[in-house]
Amino acid sequence: MTLSTPVVLESRPAGVPEGTAAADLLATDLDALRARVDNATASDVERALVAPRRTLADFAALLSPVAATRLEDLARRAHDTTVRRFGRTIHLFAPLYLSNECVSTCTYCGFSAENEIARRTLTPAEVLEEARALTARGFRHLLLVAGEHARIVSKDYLVECVRVLAPEVPQLSIEVQVWDTDTYRRLVDAGCDGLVVYQETYDRDTYAAAHLKGKKRNYDWRLAAVDRGAEAGMRRLGIAALLGLHEDWRADALAVAAHAHALVKRWWRSEVSVALPRLRPAAGGYVPADVVSDAEFVQLLCALRLFLPDVGVTLSTRESPELRDALLRLGVTHMSAGSHTEPGGYAAESDAEPQFEISDTRSPDEVVRVLRAAGYDPVWKDWQRS
Ligand code: SF4
Repeated sequence: MTLSTPVVLESRPAGVPEGTAAADLLATDLDALRARVDNATASDVERALVAPRRTLADFAALLSPVAATRLEDLARRAHDTTVRRFGRTIHLFAPLYLSNECVSTCTYCGFSAENEIARRTLTPAEVLEEARALTARGFRHLLLVAGEHARIVSKDYLVECVRVLAPEVPQLSIEVQVWDTDTYRRLVDAGCDGLVVYQETYDRDTYAAAHLKGKKRNYDWRLAAVDRGAEAGMRRLGIAALLGLHEDWRADALAVAAHAHALVKRWWRSEVSVALPRLRPAAGGYVPADVVSDAEFVQLLCALRLFLPDVGVTLSTRESPELRDALLRLGVTHMSAGSHTEPGGYAAESDAEPQFEISDTRSPDEVVRVLRAAGYDPVWKDWQRS
């Protein structure tokens, strides 16, 4: 097989609507791409490094063990590309946890239904209090996060939370259970402009083994959620795979890159970003297998930047301060800072259980100082709804 061989399947599973990025992804022959990772030669890597426009096959070559020996070249090109496309800026945001109630069982998550943890759902007034604590620290982009509980964290509740925040917070995104297009439209009308949906893993068997109970078990419904949000008018779309969930992290990296590529093509008016979350220990005793080393993580970040030069890359506080500071220059464009992963953690102490342990516990002020010292400007706001 050569690098120019098309990577499109002749038939695909019919679980998602035609004309969506999800359908485009399912039509992509990810197994053939995965084989290219293992079979990549030094000349494949060289060709991918110098290509003016890179294909998914180039991305596969850049992800290969052979490309690991060219990490410095990858890093230099990733840095140059990022500075050319985004300047020396990092967009800062904070997650605001609305609720840790959840009726689903996901093996890796502290909020899983059967975990006996302190549960809490903020009232819209408490959500506003949390938001004010965050805006006082500089944030103008908040990501509203909640577990999956359609009665407690209902559509109406989410719309109300967005409605009370919108006059004071210019950029609002959601990372909650996936909804239909009409519900996303209601959220957009209330003032929400960003949707984040992690597929968690793109491998169907691993997905089924990790999602034991709840609506989240429906892989295809979740996969097409980003398309439904885009159709409803969400102008920022975020996706990710939880690195470490599937034992073959390169397979998930290929899928997430292919999905982002498909989203960029289908929803070119929206801003697409990819997060690279490595799994963290969580309540319930979950300890992830340490399958993605720091060096591999850097290689993935650089390869992603070179394949998708205009796509945002988000790095959360799951990673250590040292690694976050080092990755700044290599392709990251969005960072969370000073995060709490329990509902009610910003305005006061909260006894609710966090979703997972964070690693970078520095305050937003400290992160800003580090950015400035590295020659980067923090961006608190790059959008204002009219
Ligand atoms: S990952 Fe989401 S759906 Fe699964 S247990 Fe956690 S909060 Fe619930």
